[in-house]
Amino acid sequence: MADTKPRASCPACSSPLAVISFVQGSSRMTMGSCASCHTRSWWEDGEAVDLPRVLADLSSSRPPPSRTTKPARR
Ligand SMILES: [Zn+2]
Repeated sequence: MADTKPRASCPACSSPLAVISFVQGSSRMTMGSCASCHTRSWWEDGEAVDLPRVLADLSSSRPPPSRTTKPARR
């Protein structure tokens, strides 16, 4: 079985990244956070992705803010 673990080193300062993986929809998201310079790297199913796109996916999959049509007072 091939190990498709993303390279866990900071692209900016080459420090080891603290890697967190979680499942987002049907994809396995991996976030690497650099403890030295706080650069964050993202992977989707082992492939590097751009953070803005990841954030867009995350926000679009979240339920919209509940809009109360009823008056707040009772
Ligand atoms: Zn770094």
